[in-house]
Amino acid sequence: MKAAWNGSTRKETLPPDWETAIRPRILKRDGYRCQHIRYDTGRKCGAFANQVDHIHDRDDHRDSNLQSLCQHHHQIKSSSQGGTAAATRRQAAKKRRHPGLLP
Ligand SMILES: [Zn+2]
Repeated sequence: MKAAWNGSTRKETLPPDWETAIRPRILKRDGYRCQHIRYDTGRKCGAFANQVDHIHDRDDHRDSNLQSLCQHHHQIKSSSQGGTAAATRRQAAKKRRHPGLLP
């Protein structure tokens, strides 16, 4: 199932070997563990990672700019980068504690 992106303006383009080479390489490098640093403990999340995320520039596909994330943290990060994210985050904030306190 695809997420309902209305962000057709996203200029994000992934290299042709993203799925076949880059993604698996990063996941393997990180041991399939989420590299997100938890705010509360200052340590890596360490949950099973199945997503590869751009740390900074989304057009920079070098290994040094890529990290593995679990589904949970990838969603948080991609929603904070997407154009529609503000609304999603506002909704989430009603249900949750301050985002900075989330694990
Ligand atoms: Zn995580």
